[in-house]
Amino acid sequence: MTLPPTLVDIGLNLAHDSFDHDREQVVAHAVAAGVRHMVITGSTLESTRAAIDLVRSAPGTYRCTAGVHPHHASELQEEHRAQLRELLAAPEVGAAGECGLDYFRNFSPHADQERAFRWQLELAVDAGKPVFLHQRDAHDAFVGILRDYLPRLAGGVAHCFTGDARELRDYLELGLAIGVTGWICDERRGQHLRELVREIPLDRLMVETDAPYLLPRDLSPKPSHRRNEPKYLPHIVKVIAACRDEPFAAVAAASTRNALQFFGFPATA
Ligand SMILES: [Zn+2]
Repeated sequence: MTLPPTLVDIGLNLAHDSFDHDREQVVAHAVAAGVRHMVITGSTLESTRAAIDLVRSAPGTYRCTAGVHPHHASELQEEHRAQLRELLAAPEVGAAGECGLDYFRNFSPHADQERAFRWQLELAVDAGKPVFLHQRDAHDAFVGILRDYLPRLAGGVAHCFTGDARELRDYLELGLAIGVTGWICDERRGQHLRELVREIPLDRLMVETDAPYLLPRDLSPKPSHRRNEPKYLPHIVKVIAACRDEPFAAVAAASTRNALQFFGFPATA
């Protein structure tokens, strides 16, 4: 019998209400598929608290992030800063974020997004924790802000990378790790990523589902509903390995090693 691979899903919105009715089953299916560790994304103060509670329920399986997504930047007021600092200091939290800039949807004005991003980078520096980064249609502003903090930051990962060659090269030059999702499984909009993914050094690569979002488009048979789940991570890794002309086991082992270290999973995990 061959054991399933050990993988780490570094971006999973497990506190999302679409998982409320069957969360334990979703996790059991993922673990059976070899996804032994998961990093639960915090995207608001409330979802960060929920994520920390989930980590406490199974500390060997989970870590989480603590942060405010750029969509919610306008909700982050001065009085929340101390709360965020406290959440970030929790031992369950492996990174600050999800934070960054999103000029694609612009749910919060740019000035609010930039202020919230700087606050969180500053808090990450103080906490000595790396950052889980989101960027869409805001590359130059994003890199401009990030550069001010990078020398003092304990690292960063560009989560759900979908950008172009210039963005990838900038991130690699800045020393960031790159998170790849099932976006790469989309034959149309993921085509450029299938080529670019070869340029990511193995020691900078991490993998994620971003569930319940971004269901891989090429699953067969097609699931009956649109909800993405962490159990599909091995499929994403298979596609990444094929694009890179590397064995699945090599991509699995490297991305797992990178993720366990980056998010500070206990050595025995
Ligand atoms: Zn994101």
